[in-house]
Amino acid sequence: MQTVQQTDYDAFSAKLACLSKGYLPPNEQSLTMPIKGFVPLYQGYKDLHLQYFQALKSGLGGRRLASKISRTIQNSQPVMNYGTYLRTLSIDIPLLNYINELPETKQLQIVNLGCGSDLRCLQFVNKQLFPQVTRYIDMDFKQSIEFKQSVLTKSHQELLSGIYEAVPCDLNNIDETMAILNKLLSVKIPTVFITECALCYMSQKESQILIDSIRKTFLTGVWLSYDPIGGDEPNDRFGKIMKENLLMSRNLSLPTLLIFNSKDTYARRWKEYDQVIIENMWNFLQFTISPMEQKRLQSVEFLDEIEELKVMQTHYVTLKARW
Ligand code: SAM
Repeated sequence: MQTVQQTDYDAFSAKLACLSKGYLPPNEQSLTMPIKGFVPLYQGYKDLHLQYFQALKSGLGGRRLASKISRTIQNSQPVMNYGTYLRTLSIDIPLLNYINELPETKQLQIVNLGCGSDLRCLQFVNKQLFPQVTRYIDMDFKQSIEFKQSVLTKSHQELLSGIYEAVPCDLNNIDETMAILNKLLSVKIPTVFITECALCYMSQKESQILIDSIRKTFLTGVWLSYDPIGGDEPNDRFGKIMKENLLMSRNLSLPTLLIFNSKDTYARRWKEYDQVIIENMWNFLQFTISPMEQKRLQSVEFLDEIEELKVMQTHYVTLKARW
């Protein structure tokens, strides 16, 4: 298994930690501006994840993986849990907003590039909630997709309608990626592309070609992306330390962390798009999450390290690029 694929288990453990501690799901008072469909989106959210986790445990090699995930959940720190909470909402909110803008009769396709074990597929293929969503494609390395498919088959077979497909693919292979997208989707239907902590693992050249190719191929849509940025202040060592730590401890490479090190440099990659909005996650917390919800989050676990949270969250961004 490639080290980059293992990052998915960290993401999934972090999500479970947030659910078990009570950060997630959010509620009707979580946002400064209420959004239609926000609360229903998280109905059954915890069970969805626990059922997946149960099925994962009973699968091949699942026991070892499950005990690793359980350890990570137990050792989760408040700053990390805040991060996961914010990261989840920073994709869900613009995705819901985009859906809400479309007339109910209009169709919509969603593609999660580097999906890992993310279970948004189960939330958004819900016909009652989102009649517009006619296609949901998950893409990741072959091994990750086979694993996800086997767990989903055990845990959520009934939810996976003909709308959903999980497809193996190396995103750095642009010809293969674009061939799959062209085959499975209609380029005329509005399409949402999600990259949640996925572009940061891709090489610079290929990620740029992917961003440009999707813009050229699909007539209209929105790209939602979440990633760390290295930081561009002269004394900022966040990115350098993160990059070195991951390389040393896990042999994991973040090829563009220090290149797209600020909001501006990160957003410039979508220069061919019509409207690009980017925000760091500290500001996302301040402006999108209501004061009441911020209080609730503080009461979930004692968080002493506000400065640490701020440093960390100013080094993560959420981007929305429309065309
Ligand atoms: N997006 C998921 C989430 O946020 O829960 C998973 C995030 S995980 C940190 C990164 C994922 O990107 C992994 O599942 C990994 O296998 C996938 N990934 C990274 N580079 C990839 C590539 N070149 N092709 C396909 N998948 C890739």
